[in-house]
Parts: sequence; C-alpha cells; structure tokens
Amino acid sequence: MPAEQVLVVGAGVIGLSTGIRLLEAGYEVDIVARDWPDDPKTIEFTSPWAGAHHVAYGTGADMRLHELERSTFAAMSDMMRKDASVPLHFAPQVEYREQPRPTGKDDGLSQLGLISRYYPDFRWLESHELPDGVSYGAAFTHILIETPAYLPHLLRRFKSLGGRTHRCDSLSSLSDALSVHPSLSRAKILINCTGLGARTLVPDSAVYPTRGQLVIVRAPWIKQGYMRSGPAREEKPATYTYIIPRVESGTVVLGGCAEKNNWDPTPRPELAKDFKTRCLALCPDLLPPNKRGGTIDDLDVVEDAVGLRPTRDGGIRLEVDSLASSQGGRLPIVHNYGHGGYGYQTSWGSADAAVELVRQALSGKSKL
Ligand SMILES: Cc1cc2nc3c(=O)[nH]c(=O)nc-3n(C[C@H](O)[C@H](O)[C@H](O)COP(=O)(O)OP(=O)(O)OC[C@H]3O[C@@H](n4cnc5c(N)ncnc54)[C@H](O)[C@@H]3O)c2cc1C
Repeated sequence: MPAEQVLVVGAGVIGLSTGIRLLEAGYEVDIVARDWPDDPKTIEFTSPWAGAHHVAYGTGADMRLHELERSTFAAMSDMMRKDASVPLHFAPQVEYREQPRPTGKDDGLSQLGLISRYYPDFRWLESHELPDGVSYGAAFTHILIETPAYLPHLLRRFKSLGGRTHRCDSLSSLSDALSVHPSLSRAKILINCTGLGARTLVPDSAVYPTRGQLVIVRAPWIKQGYMRSGPAREEKPATYTYIIPRVESGTVVLGGCAEKNNWDPTPRPELAKDFKTRCLALCPDLLPPNKRGGTIDDLDVVEDAVGLRPTRDGGIRLEVDSLASSQGGRLPIVHNYGHGGYGYQTSWGSADAAVELVRQALSGKSKL
C-alpha cells in the first residue's frame, strides 16, 4: 500500500521535528511554511530567536509538560550518542532560587524536584555555595541547544529522509496550505505547527505572545549555564536572570524577561542594561579576561534581540480537529502549537504525540 501523505504547516522547531517523526513512521510528508531556518530572522518566526537550553519547566501542576520534557531530554541525549556532530551539548547548569524552598510533597513536585528525577549529576547546593539573597539551589547537567545550527540541522535531516518543502506567502487560512502545490491536494491529514500564527489561522484567541528580550555577548570561555529567579515583589515583576552559552559560536545569551501580550519587536535599551547588570553580578567572568573587575560597558555585545514566545492559555494544544476541504467533506487536522517558552525542550515529545494522533485520526479511532 502506498504511504499516506501528510501535510505539515510550519517549519519551526515543532514543524520540523514533527515532520521528521512522521517520515520515520513511514508517512509521505510535505511541509508548507512562510519562514524557514536559513531565512533572515523576523519577529513572526520564533524558533531562530530562542536561547536555548533544556531546563525543564514542568511541575506537579502540569505533569503532561513534565512528560513531554522528559521524553525530549531522552530523545536529545540519544541524538548526541548516535551523532557527535549534532548541535546539542551536555553542559553544567547552576540554578538559584530567591523564594523559600517548597516543603513536603510540593518539593518533589516543584520544578527542581522533577528535574532531580532525570537530569544527570543532579545535586542540591550546600548553604555555603549560595550567593547572598538566595534561599536554595541545585546543580546538574543540562542540554545546550545551539539554535542557529540546530534548526538547519533539522531541515537537512527532514530532507535526507525524503521530506518535501514548499515556501508560501502568509496563509490566511489553514485550508489554503492545500493549494500551495498541486500535489498537496492528495494529503490525507494536515498538522498545524504554526506557533503564534495559530492565533489567527485556527483562530485560537488563547494564543498570545510572551515577549523575550536577549543580549548576546562574545565570551567563548563560558561553558556553564546559570539561572537565578526571584519572586514578584511589591510593584516589581518576578525576575529571571539567565546565562546560556552557545559553545559552537563562542557567544553567550543573557536574559531575560517574559512580557505577556507584548508584541513590541524592538529591543529596549533600559531592559538590556538591566540584564547585563544582573548577569554580570551572577557571573563576573562574562567580561573578557583583560577587563575583569570592569563594568557592563566592558561586555563584548554582539546583538540585542527580541523574540515572541507562542504562549497559549491551557498549554500546548495537541489535539485532533477537522477542516472543511475544498473537495467537500472534512479533512482531519492534528494541532501541535502553543509551546510558549519550552518549544525546544518539548519538541520530540510533542512530535511523538502528534504522530500518535495522526495514526488514530487516519484509522478512524479519534472522535472528530
Ligand atoms: C527569547 C526566547 C528564548 C527561548 N528560550 C527557550 C529555551 O531555552 N528552551 C526552549 O525549549 N524554548 C525556548 N524558547 C521557546 C521556543 O523558541 C518556542 O517555543 C518555539 O520556537 C516555538 O516553535 P514553533 O515551531 O511552534 O513556532 P515558530 O518557530 O514560530 O514556527 C512557526 C512556523 O509556522 C509558520 N507560519 C505561521 N503562521 C503562518 C502563516 N500565516 N502562513 C504561513 N506560515 C505560517 C512560520 O512561517 C514558521 O515556519 C524561547 C523563545 C524565546 C523568544
């Protein structure tokens, strides 16, 4: 029997990972998208802006997120074992928390409690290792994801498995994807991996941007990641100070912020100054060796950047739905969008879940 044809819309980390898993499962796969990994970066395409690293967010309040992160950690570890040239790297990470440590069952189901279940080399920090103002912390081995190289790597892998690609203009509906090329009218199912685009394409008003601003500096000697988080205090929002090395390019990503429903694509200088100050306090070695002890003006800044995380109230949407098709009748869709600030670290788990939904939809086992 010939392979069934699947049409994926979107070529970010979610569309590419899903396309790869579908090809591995024996489907014929086409991807249609407006933005592609090697294009100049635009604010409409989130994936190229991400730091990124795998430091899981899941807590007991969202065990599905925990499972997606855990299976993605396993998949990425497996990729590194099989191919040393994959742009992923194990590296040490230190996490500091200013808020009090949860107690009892809540501790085990907290973010760090769940991380302790599967990250290699996990240990809680001793009190003498905590900087001023920090209540508790942990150290472990995490995964650095070199996004500028990882996205093109995924695209090459998709093509090498026989996947086909089609560039389109901005679609005004998901069904328009079927007419981007005549061969696509044979597709038996469509997978929606459009990130923030799902807000208008579905349409899904639960999808909104969470603005992230970054400063990228040159500091090839930094090989360890850091995160310090503090709770909201009086008028001030919660703070997230993080340092993510990109070991292949010798740069380091400094952040960050999470501004709900803010579409502004322009870096704000006062925010960049705030990140640089917080990050330099966390890791004074960010300064070039001949400028140690200096100020934020001595950092070797390469880029100020802004990306919009495709957040969704209710979390990631992994679900079967249907669409009116141009031939009459309805075409099944699998939604795979709404990955917020954790799209890389849930990418393979989400892709596996989407493939399972495709199987169910094509075998008539899902309720449409
Ligand atoms: C500053 C920052 C830091 C981050 N750090 C991390 C991190 O450390 N770890 C982590 O796991 N995640 C991180 N993220 C989150 C991660 O980047 C996102 O969750 C992920 O990139 C979302 O991928 P996506 O494929 O769903 O969407 P996108 O990358 O936006 O891809 C959407 C695709 O759909 C296409 N599309 C959309 N609308 C249309 C349309 N109308 N017509 C045609 N095509 C369309 C686009 O062209 C594109 O190909 C970070 C994000 C930011 C901004």
